[in-house]
Amino acid sequence: MSLNSLIESDRAHWIHPVAPWRDHEERGVTVLRSGKGAYLTDIEGHELLDGFAGLWCVNVGYGQESIVAAAAEQMRRLPYATGYFHFGSEPAILLAQKLAERAPGDLDHVYFTLGGSDAVDGVIRFIRYYYNATGRPSKKHMIALDRGYHGSSTTGSGLTGLPSFHLNFDVPGPTQHHIAPPYAYRSDAANDAELIALCVAELRAKVEALGAENVAAFFAEPVIGSGGVIVPPRGWLAAMQATCRDLDILLIVDEVITGFGRTGPLFACEHEGVEPDFMTVAKGLTAGYVPMGALFMSDRIYQAIADNTPSGVPIGHGQTYSGHPVSAAVGLEVLRLYEEGGLLANGQKAGAHFGTRLQELRDHPLVGDVRSLGLLAGVELVTNKVTKARPAKELALPDRMARIGYKNGLIFRAFGDGIIGFAPPICITVDEVDLLVDRFRQTLDELLTIKEIRDAVD
Ligand code: PLP
Repeated sequence: MSLNSLIESDRAHWIHPVAPWRDHEERGVTVLRSGKGAYLTDIEGHELLDGFAGLWCVNVGYGQESIVAAAAEQMRRLPYATGYFHFGSEPAILLAQKLAERAPGDLDHVYFTLGGSDAVDGVIRFIRYYYNATGRPSKKHMIALDRGYHGSSTTGSGLTGLPSFHLNFDVPGPTQHHIAPPYAYRSDAANDAELIALCVAELRAKVEALGAENVAAFFAEPVIGSGGVIVPPRGWLAAMQATCRDLDILLIVDEVITGFGRTGPLFACEHEGVEPDFMTVAKGLTAGYVPMGALFMSDRIYQAIADNTPSGVPIGHGQTYSGHPVSAAVGLEVLRLYEEGGLLANGQKAGAHFGTRLQELRDHPLVGDVRSLGLLAGVELVTNKVTKARPAKELALPDRMARIGYKNGLIFRAFGDGIIGFAPPICITVDEVDLLVDRFRQTLDELLTIKEIRDAVD
């Protein structure tokens, strides 16, 4: 099919995720064709360094033959096995065991999903079940962060703290609430300790206002991803955990982006020894090669649910593809690559270099803030470094950045409010990190050659 026909068909038929539909029709789709390592090639042969690992997921990079072989072998042997009716498959059982062994605290039980949204949604359902079954049915309210992202399921989208996921979708619901994120760059707090104290105080105040007996849980990402890569001060997550314990509400850590080496260790919870009651993962679990997510449930909650459900009564949460054997076989091979294949170690080394190189961008007239943890980074663009003024909408900065970056052979995420997100594959080399930062600086410099943008910068 010619590129023009593909664009026409796409325009006519494919509803793209989280897209402004009319703008997408006008712009036309960009068709990607192949990938190798940290590079993508589009249908016209243009090679791009993928600074976003697809959608923060292709951690192992493209073209890992051992993953292709693991998937093909499993497809030949047994392409599908249900987890219903007490059936299972070897790869799903093994993967659940290996994940539970590596997860923080007593997160010993794993429910497999197809991605992150249904992992969050499953957690919400199990929390409701847990409190109802254990005799505390009033605990219904859930609190999350403004700018947090917890997917776009019917209920989970209400915990997401981003306006476009709410507009016209009738969420958040009456039991869903948001508090301020640990956003140092745009906070009035004088230092990290003060910012953490403010966040703790806000959680306490919200729970007190609702009544602790009515509050079920607090949800957070260890680093806010889709809300603009907001890296909290060290100690924030541990402080939020201590507050949740004190208030007798559950802590749910959403590691859909941060899991599997994105910030250095296997799970970001490890930075501060956090042991949540539930944890959600997806993306890096199968490195995007096939769909799979998972929720981890603490042993305490698992046992309470099991003990409070009569024998013969099924706990009615399930999906046809939960524990899909091909996805599980891929997950096992991806986990092997992180550990025995040295990818986690590579990500830690490349991540340290990435952080150092990105900080050099602070001298650029358009750069207000640079924040990163491992290979997860955000660069916040402003038109005035003193007032921290966000670029005016009319400047169309995100769109221009993405276009110029693409021309320069670089893919990154240009968020609507002038924040640029990076999450390169964890297999990225130090030389490729240098290339990424150089291409990004060139992109920023070219942006400044546009008169209206140059004029807008004070
Ligand atoms: N939670 C977080 C933190 C995410 O970043 C995402 C996706 O980006 C999700 C949940 C939803 O995952 P999915 O897109 O696989 O449904």
